[in-house]
Amino acid sequence: MQYRVEGIVIRSTDYGEGNKIVTLLTNTHGKIGVIVRGAKKIKSRYGSLSQLFTHGEYLFFRNSGLGTLTHGEIIESHHVLREQLDLTAYSSYAAELVDRALQEEDAGAFMYEQLKACLNAFAEGKDVTVTIQLFEMKVLQAAGYGPDFRACVSCGNEAGPMALSARNGGILCSRCAYKDPQALPLGDGALKLLRLYQQMDLRRLGNIAIKDETKQQLKQAMRLLMDTHVALPLKSRAFLDQMDKYSI
Ligand SMILES: [Zn+2]
Repeated sequence: MQYRVEGIVIRSTDYGEGNKIVTLLTNTHGKIGVIVRGAKKIKSRYGSLSQLFTHGEYLFFRNSGLGTLTHGEIIESHHVLREQLDLTAYSSYAAELVDRALQEEDAGAFMYEQLKACLNAFAEGKDVTVTIQLFEMKVLQAAGYGPDFRACVSCGNEAGPMALSARNGGILCSRCAYKDPQALPLGDGALKLLRLYQQMDLRRLGNIAIKDETKQQLKQAMRLLMDTHVALPLKSRAFLDQMDKYSI
């Protein structure tokens, strides 16, 4: 059967002599593996279609299992994301999250739009930290781990300082915080932004100015959520950590 999809390359691996297998996140068919024959040949028409982060239209033939590319057109090559080290690192992390942290049924049209918006935001020079945190929140929500930031998840209290409790799936008020020794105290600014992340669609991301202190808290908060719910050893995450440590 012949398929025509719009997709983004989230993984690209060598396969046999000169071929590649790409994993696409598509707008209509979730994640799909497609063989691109001759992709590594210098004159291949389809080489660029098999590069990581490429957004394109893919035509492929498939009976079962892997598809075979028959034609394709690039919509956005995103070469800047492959050329600039920090952008490559963040984009690789976003792609690996979709590839490994999302089940097939969670990788629908909404996540496709979110990844597309995420890569576009990187390419347009938007704040990489805010962009990736917002994307992480969308991944958590798609995987069914979206936290509840409306009120204390233990007693329903809406007032006073709150702490993030990843394992309880939301926030705890000061009276209940003892229930989770790992709970992370949140300032007003951080809680406000976490609520914004939860409600916001990446396609609507503009420029947000955030204080350094709030940035630090957000970083810890998102890390706690990701480590609790997406406990996977991701290569791209380890690289981001190294980059952070040495402030490359
Ligand atoms: Zn409480």
